[in-house]
Amino acid sequence: MLKKIPEETIVRLSYYLRALLYFKEKETPIISSKRLADFLKISHHQLRKDLSYFGQFGRKGVGYSCSKLIESIRDILGLNREWSACVVGFGNLGRALSFYRGFKDEGIIIRAAFDINENKINKDYPHLKVYSLDKMEKVIKKENIQIGIIAVPKTAAEEAAKKLCTCGIKAIFNLAPVKLDVPKEIILKDVDLSCQLTSLTYHLKNLETKQ
Ligand code: ATP
Repeated sequence: MLKKIPEETIVRLSYYLRALLYFKEKETPIISSKRLADFLKISHHQLRKDLSYFGQFGRKGVGYSCSKLIESIRDILGLNREWSACVVGFGNLGRALSFYRGFKDEGIIIRAAFDINENKINKDYPHLKVYSLDKMEKVIKKENIQIGIIAVPKTAAEEAAKKLCTCGIKAIFNLAPVKLDVPKEIILKDVDLSCQLTSLTYHLKNLETKQ
């Protein structure tokens, strides 16, 4: 049976990958777990534990080959191929995400956007078109889209998620500030930007009380 891997471990793999790419660029062929962990300001025990979920990497007393570990992590994360995504809600957030280059760099290509606003529908952008919701099923099938990114107001998020699920999406990245109820086979990631920002205000407030 497959071991249950903590979600935090999976997220940290992306950070390891970025750091390894940085070291590879700096022409560091071999890196110790301590140096890699120090660079990321985590403990090397954590790093080794995270990697141990996926097998044996590196050589004791020598370190990891940057190129080999990069390849292994890309393989583990499914980054050796392209994934297609769509955005639902082509407002300020949806537009910014649609044109964000960082996703493309990871092989996640946003192929289409969907909206209910007549003024936004049927507009063509480089590599992207905005469609009405009734085109969703056809476009998702045609473009083989697996990931749906929800960037609608919170009152419309549940409906957007339902529609994505019935249209065959397998994973949802939800940016609306609401907990979604989706079928258990759907992979769901909620990213509430305001909550993330609130953790900053918590630390800022504590900094002020210390001064
Ligand atoms: P703008 O001012 O361009 O509309 P915004 O970021 O202020 O942008 P929001 O009210 O946050 O807009 O809505 C985000 C987008 O979601 C808008 O483009 C809106 O038309 C769209 N939207 C709202 N409800 C739905 C829905 N049920 N399905 C799809 N898109 C929707």
